Formats: sequence, C-alpha cells, structure tokens
Amino acid sequence: MPERTDVAVIGGGPAGATMASLLARDGHRVVLLEKDEHPRFHIGESLLPHNMKILRELGLEDRLAGLGVFKPGADFTSDAAREKRHEIRFDEALDVPDGCGHAWQVRRSEFDRMLFDHAADCGARSFQKARVTGVDFEGGEPELTVRHAGAEQRLKSRFVVDASGRGALLSKRFGLQQRNREHGTAALYGHFRNVPRRRGEAGGNISIYWFEHGWIWMIPLADGVMSVGAVCDPAYLRGRGRDVEGFLFGTLALNPHAAERMKTAEPVSPITATGNYSYFSRQMMGGKWLLVGDAGMFVDPVFSSGVFFAMYSARLGADIVRAELAGDVRAAVRARKTYRRKVRRGVRELCWFIYRFPAPAMRHLFLNPSNLFGLRQSVISVLAGDLHDNPRVRRRLRLFRLIYALTSLRFMPDAIRARRRRLRNARMELDNAA
Ligand SMILES: Cc1cc2nc3c(=O)[nH]c(=O)nc-3n(C[C@H](O)[C@H](O)[C@H](O)COP(=O)(O)OP(=O)(O)OC[C@H]3O[C@@H](n4cnc5c(N)ncnc54)[C@H](O)[C@@H]3O)c2cc1C
Repeated sequence: MPERTDVAVIGGGPAGATMASLLARDGHRVVLLEKDEHPRFHIGESLLPHNMKILRELGLEDRLAGLGVFKPGADFTSDAAREKRHEIRFDEALDVPDGCGHAWQVRRSEFDRMLFDHAADCGARSFQKARVTGVDFEGGEPELTVRHAGAEQRLKSRFVVDASGRGALLSKRFGLQQRNREHGTAALYGHFRNVPRRRGEAGGNISIYWFEHGWIWMIPLADGVMSVGAVCDPAYLRGRGRDVEGFLFGTLALNPHAAERMKTAEPVSPITATGNYSYFSRQMMGGKWLLVGDAGMFVDPVFSSGVFFAMYSARLGADIVRAELAGDVRAAVRARKTYRRKVRRGVRELCWFIYRFPAPAMRHLFLNPSNLFGLRQSVISVLAGDLHDNPRVRRRLRLFRLIYALTSLRFMPDAIRARRRRLRNARMELDNAA
C-alpha cells in the first residue's frame, strides 16, 4: 500500500467502486479499500433502469446480460383474499432515456466483484481485506489507519470518500448519524429454489406483496434461484424467536398469494434477519471528505433504489473531488451545491412514496392506477429511478400528490389506524434503542 494518495475510497461496494473507477480513469491516484474479499454476499439484488446510464458510462452495460436476469418491470399484489395485482413495465415510463426501459436482477456477489475489478482496470489501486479503522483529520492532510495483511498501515490522502455502506464509518465517527424517526424498518430474507416465476418476459419482474406489517419481495435470480424477503416494522420482527425460517414462512403466509407461490419453495441459503436500518447523516460532506451511498443514508428498499442511489451519488460526488483536487474553488462550490440539491431532491421524491407505501390510499392507487395526464407513467418514472432531473415527471407528481390527498380522505379511518400502528412501532423501537 502506498503511503500517500490523492483520494482514498473507504468501501468497495457499488458506491466506492464507481467513485474509484471514475477518478482513476481521469488519471488521479486512487486507493480503494475493502474490508471483505469479493465475491461476498450482499443484499440488494434488484437494479433500476436509470442505473443503466451509469453502467454504460462505466462501459459495463453489456456485461450485465451475462450476469443477471432481465427485469422488464414490477408487479404489486394486495393481501386481499381475491387476488388484486397490478403490473408495470419500465418501458411505459415518461421520457424513457435510451437503454433505460429495463433493468437487471443480479447476484450482488458477482455484480460487486465486476465493479470492484473494473475500478482496478481503470487504474485504482484496490485492496481487499483492508479495513479502515480510523481517519485522522487533525493535521493538514487526512490520515487513514488501515488493517491490512496482518499489520496496521497509515495512508495519507488529499481527499477521503466514505463509501462504507451501513458501516457508515465517518458519520458515526463524527456523531452525525441519526435514526429515521418517521420510518423504521427491519428485514428478513433468504434464497430459495422451486418458486414459480411470472409467465413470459414478466418472469424477470420483481414482485412486491403487501401484508399487515410491511411488504414482501420476490426477485428472480440466475440459475432458478428466487431471492425472497420481508421488510417489516422492527417491533414485528422482534417477535421472531429462534426459528427465523419458520418466522419468515409465517410472515409470507400473511399474504395468501405470496404463500401460494412459496408452496414448494426450498431454502438454499440461511435466512438472515437485519434490524432497523433507516438512518441519515446530518451532514454529507466536509472540507476534505464526502459520504456516498449508504454511508450517507438509507431508508427502505421497497423501490430497489439503493444501488442506483449509491452509484448516482458517487458519480455526482466525483465532480466535487475532481474540483477539490484541481484546487478550483468555484467549481468545488458549484459541485457541492449540485450534489446537495440533486441528492436531496431524489431522496425527497422517493421518501414521499416510501413513507406512504403501506397506507391504504397508496395501495389503492397502485392497484387501480389512472393514466390521466400521464400520472401512471410519471409514477413508473419514479420507480425507474427518474428522480432527479425531469421537470415533466416532477410536475405530474405534484398532481399525483393531490389525488393521493383526496383518496386518503376516502380511506381516512384505515389510514389513521395504519399511521397509529406505525408511530407506535417507531416509538417502541426508539425506546428499545434508548
Ligand atoms: C433488506 C434489504 C434489501 C435491499 N434490496 C435492494 C434492492 O433490491 N435493490 C437495491 O438497489 N438496493 C437494495 N438494498 C440496498 C442496497 O443493499 C444498498 O443500498 C447498496 O448496497 C449500497 O451500496 P454502497 O456501495 O453504498 O454500500 P455497500 O454495498 O454496503 O458497500 C459498502 C462496502 O464497504 C465495505 N466496508 C464497510 N466498512 C468498511 C471499512 N471500515 N473499511 C473498508 N471497507 C469497509 C463493506 O464491506 C462493503 O463492501 C437493500 C437493502 C436491504 C437492507
């Protein structure tokens, strides 16, 4: 490992590898540090269509076909006894950019390895089994402490990018991380065989099912494997006991249509449970550091936005680092402003949907959509990841919000009950954390 570099990137997941690739390609000295060794398991297997633009910029778009399952859209199913399902296709969205009418479902072990190797191909000096244990900003230049090859090593860097995912090294270190009080979520998941896919091209869809305490996903992966999981109130998940697999099947049984599809399912991986993971950092950047991807924030994976957000924020953040390294103060101020504005806008649009996803009125609108004024198309655009730049989508979303408000009046009693339950669960979660 060198003693000095231009940029140190902590974490070799999608955010870190994207940042490292882009900067190394420009000719900067980049050191990419990953504590694990690829290929390693990671949850988050469903990509979004707008991620394809970034993968194309990296020159990796064509490699996805050999890696994943073609994802044309998504379907949403209620938990009512009589099945009510609605399917969307991403190529129906408003203003579909070239190549963004579909996405891919990937095993993250393979996808992340591809991105990590690519960073090295672009010229980044990449190290695995290299855990950053500290960053000292006291002197003029940040200094990282790295545990690698059985020894503690020091690395000075002109700029530090934290892409450590939920490890959130810097925001925890600076005391900036805050739990999301509006929306607590936890999850349990595993891989299964013998789960039937949807027919035809829809066989690559992600399927989402509502149930009383949250929602369920089914993501078809290569080799006939289905990733299945449930995202739920943390309070509900705490009741799981020791038999996590039994608890997952019990949870799936809360939606009869999901249960029917899982009738012949056989687990091919251990079932994993993960606690509340909704958080954000009160600050995303400082003079010589920047947070990208999950290291900055994470809400809820219902719309499969995590990997896209990780790569998108890395791509935007690369402009900040470039300007800082060039000593171009005005460009750096501009890039920081753009980063804040676009990240905030994307997160705001997405959170509006995420927080309301369990609400009866939103469920009704998802299952009975109208395309009046292109509303259905604009919602599909959001689900495809068109969150940051498109004024046509944003204008229609304002109208959609109005319709949601009116629909909520109709579902008021159900909504009050659902909100009370969410707040009660969030409070219990905070009390327990305290
Ligand atoms: C239940 C669940 C389901 C999800 N489903 C989806 C989905 O379907 N689609 C989707 O897009 N997203 C999904 N996500 C979100 C997705 O997993 C993340 O948003 C995404 O992986 C973020 O990428 P990242 O690069 O920011 O972080 P990560 O992918 O977590 O990468 C961070 C890397 O940093 C390394 N690291 C951590 N600490 C250190 C350290 N100190 N030193 C060195 N290296 C370190 C880690 O080993 C890791 O490799 C889901 C998340 C959850 C919890």
